[in-house]
Amino acid sequence: MAAGTTTSIIETRRHQMFPTLTPAEIERLRRFGAPRSYDAGEALAKAGQVGHGLTIILGGEVAVTQRARSGAPELIVIHGPGAFMGELAQLSGRPALVDAHAKGAVEALIVAPDRLRALFIAEAELGERIMRALILRRVGLIETGGGGPVIIGHSESGDVLRLRGFLSRNGHPHQTLNPDTDPEARALIDRFHVDPGQLPIVLCPGGQLLHNPDENQLARCIGLVRAIDPDRLYDVAIVGAGPAGLATAVYAGSEGLSALVLDCRSFGGQAGASARIENYLGFPTGITGMALMARAYNQAQKFGAEMAIPDEAVALTGMEAESGDFALSLFNAERARARSVVVASGARYRRLNVSRLDDFEATSVHYWASPIEAKLVTGQEIALVGAGNSAGQATVYLARHAAKVWLIVRGRSLEASMSRYLVDRIRGLENVTLVTEAEVSGLDGSHGTLEAVRWRLAVGGEIERQIRHLFLFIGAEPNSNWLAGALKLDAKGFIVTGREAGSTRQLLETSRDGVFAIGDVRAGSIKRVAAAVGEGAQVVAMLHAYLAASDRTKSAQHRH
Ligand SMILES: Cc1cc2nc3c(=O)[nH]c(=O)nc-3n(C[C@H](O)[C@H](O)[C@H](O)COP(=O)(O)OP(=O)(O)OC[C@H]3O[C@@H](n4cnc5c(N)ncnc54)[C@H](O)[C@@H]3O)c2cc1C
Repeated sequence: MAAGTTTSIIETRRHQMFPTLTPAEIERLRRFGAPRSYDAGEALAKAGQVGHGLTIILGGEVAVTQRARSGAPELIVIHGPGAFMGELAQLSGRPALVDAHAKGAVEALIVAPDRLRALFIAEAELGERIMRALILRRVGLIETGGGGPVIIGHSESGDVLRLRGFLSRNGHPHQTLNPDTDPEARALIDRFHVDPGQLPIVLCPGGQLLHNPDENQLARCIGLVRAIDPDRLYDVAIVGAGPAGLATAVYAGSEGLSALVLDCRSFGGQAGASARIENYLGFPTGITGMALMARAYNQAQKFGAEMAIPDEAVALTGMEAESGDFALSLFNAERARARSVVVASGARYRRLNVSRLDDFEATSVHYWASPIEAKLVTGQEIALVGAGNSAGQATVYLARHAAKVWLIVRGRSLEASMSRYLVDRIRGLENVTLVTEAEVSGLDGSHGTLEAVRWRLAVGGEIERQIRHLFLFIGAEPNSNWLAGALKLDAKGFIVTGREAGSTRQLLETSRDGVFAIGDVRAGSIKRVAAAVGEGAQVVAMLHAYLAASDRTKSAQHRH
């Protein structure tokens, strides 16, 4: 649920968010935890610091608070006996987003993250109730922005949009304070002696102040990503946390393989950018890509997959001498080791070949249509380029917010490239005008803000409109540059698998033993969420076979 909704999730789903366990249920959970006592006033959790794990209250009361904009504590809930304290951060040992204090003497049972995952597997029904509560609590925090970093900057600034987009796509709560409208923002700017020309700044829950950070700095400051243990050897390293990579993580984790998932941006990949996926099995009313992918992300963590986001793989440095293992070099100079590698690095959006595109990309040119962009275009005239399903979905979604949408396509009609249901829906929208056989020919504006878009018609003539936001959905190119020389690629850069990669290769095997490729980055794959998920499931069977064979080879070598 997005921030600003009128009814809070705390009001509508309170009973699921804060359930009470019976004494018999607590007895069943004792084997997963360790008892611990707290004195009156003692902190059980501090925002910005890694806590001990899920905390089941056996006796006494705990007050859970979040920090208001002013910094004052705001009560979320008081937990009594049978309640449990924690949210999604406890699943992966990330820093707490709230503060919690013992109101009097408290007796508790602490379930550490690895034991919590064991609990989910062993106690399915109880685990489901706990997992649902942890997810709903995170949704509640996202709704209010509680516990996350505070971005202080002008709401139309490209850097503010970048930081907000990054945190939203990673399902992390945050608040934005605009110095034009929020007195608290001006007070903070004065307090930290920030030159208004140096905005945005970000205030992290641990108290650190960042000046216009990049995504990596921000992620590390709020504990979203941790250093990778260079000595740990994972069964599989998965590059990419789109639907293909997350499916691999879920099936690998649930079948007992240790998995590390890396993504340079956020979980969800292109699917996370989809305003509404209507053709994925099991969701007859459709689902936003972000909601579908957030479920998969939580599910993968429930099964023990370790997430490293954002972390970018820059090279597959190949087998380490004799061991047969792989090393992935990361952008931040770290290294991850694994016995096998699944490349699920997907594709990235194609850019338009028009001059001055760079000037406006931070603020006015978008490759994504999420609630953030919808808010930006409310009541305005916009242009959208593209004729595929992603363009169709974005048009339908943005038309609900924008005053007018110009849908610009190169071809003669939409029918050849867009699903029928979307074409029909677009036809029914009065504020959408389809312009066929046209190409964007010019962009104008100043100070990084787009003011006008021009398009040329095949029949002759050029049209100019006062437009501040341009959306591009013109296809994608494979994210495989980082693998050049390491794997066989086709002429367009897609990874070759199966027979074409080698006469003995199976469907998802690349030209290199122990390295598999799935989803959009794979040559010949069907570029759909369901296909990516299917390949993610399928590759796990191949991983088992490869790892078993490599074990046999190693023990044979050992014997000789
Ligand atoms: C706007 C939009 C709407 C769509 N709607 C639908 C739809 O309704 N139905 C449907 O079936 N399909 C839809 N698609 C297509 C679908 O999203 C893709 O087919 C699917 O996401 C492919 O999944 P993937 O996991 O293979 O790759 P991706 O989703 O592309 O994910 C790849 C991930 O790898 C990461 N990555 C790349 N390089 C590196 C690196 N070097 N190191 C670390 N990480 C890296 C990227 O950041 C990304 O998160 C849509 C696509 C878009 C763009």
